[in-house]
Amino acid sequence: MKAIVFHHHGGAEVLHYEDAPVPAIRANEVLVRVRACALNHLDLWVRAGMPNVPIPLPHIPGSDVAGEIAEIGAGVTTVKVGQKVVLAPGVSCGKCAACIAGQDNRCRQFSNLGYMLDGGCAEFVRCPEVNCLPYPENLTFEEAASIPLVFQTAWHMLITRAQLQPGEDVLILGAGSGVGSAAIQIAALFGARAIATAGTGAKLEKARDLGATLFINHKTQKIRDEVRRMTNKRGVDVVVEHVGTATWDESVASLAVGGRLVTCGATTGYDAKIDLRFLFIRQLSLLGSYMGAKSELVSVMKLVASGHLKPVVDRIFPLSACADAHRYLEAGEQFGKVVLTV
Ligand SMILES: [Zn+2]
Repeated sequence: MKAIVFHHHGGAEVLHYEDAPVPAIRANEVLVRVRACALNHLDLWVRAGMPNVPIPLPHIPGSDVAGEIAEIGAGVTTVKVGQKVVLAPGVSCGKCAACIAGQDNRCRQFSNLGYMLDGGCAEFVRCPEVNCLPYPENLTFEEAASIPLVFQTAWHMLITRAQLQPGEDVLILGAGSGVGSAAIQIAALFGARAIATAGTGAKLEKARDLGATLFINHKTQKIRDEVRRMTNKRGVDVVVEHVGTATWDESVASLAVGGRLVTCGATTGYDAKIDLRFLFIRQLSLLGSYMGAKSELVSVMKLVASGHLKPVVDRIFPLSACADAHRYLEAGEQFGKVVLTV
């Protein structure tokens, strides 16, 4: 099969479009003919290499897959060859206390397709049967591939970790990012007021189309001042953080008394400080969030099929141009998902 493979870590130039063996499946697995694979910021980290994360090399990246079942293992009973599927990116043991409690993203063996396992930037990918999600027939393959990772992440952050309530104010950083564009829709769906930030007026206009009601241009405006103005000096109930060092101080300063800051990433750096007096006097909660559980993704897919949540596709590249797609994503000019068609 054709695949995107890197043999060592580095910049986009380490991504090669080359021949690779079709994966051999186990009894509980399926082989999927990939039709589209969406990129995530995670792909950039995996390609560049991270301290203490021994990505197996050579490696095929790509976590978000839509395609058709090409082959099923002997023990597979719930999907058929030829069926269209979207894949849940998270792979876990399925047997530990976290897994059987439906918290598979807390499994000690939890990984993602394209992370410690070969992923979907290829003509074929293998994965466990339990990762096959019903295909929303209203979507193209490129649209369907845009859903799983960012929507499960945003859902886990807002609904499960931050326990968002109707009528609350939510500050969503980076409206143009995959997580940001998903979080705006989820916040609006749950009856919260979404304040979106972005670096251009065009991106803020698109955030409005997704359901955001208040807007901050973080290049020309100071986030904490705008939040204070918009909320009558009260601050927001929830902040959706994934930017890290560059926005951390603004995010913390934007919280209301009793506010929750939930973070799933640190694209601009890991270092952050907090004034402990501010933390306890204002009774703030700092919440970490990582990916999401498969059951949450099942809820998301239902809302996608009914049109309540929509994929946001920015640009589509052919699989062979994966390196260009990485460069484009790295430049941060996109609004929504960058997708490879296979
Ligand atoms: Zn487990």
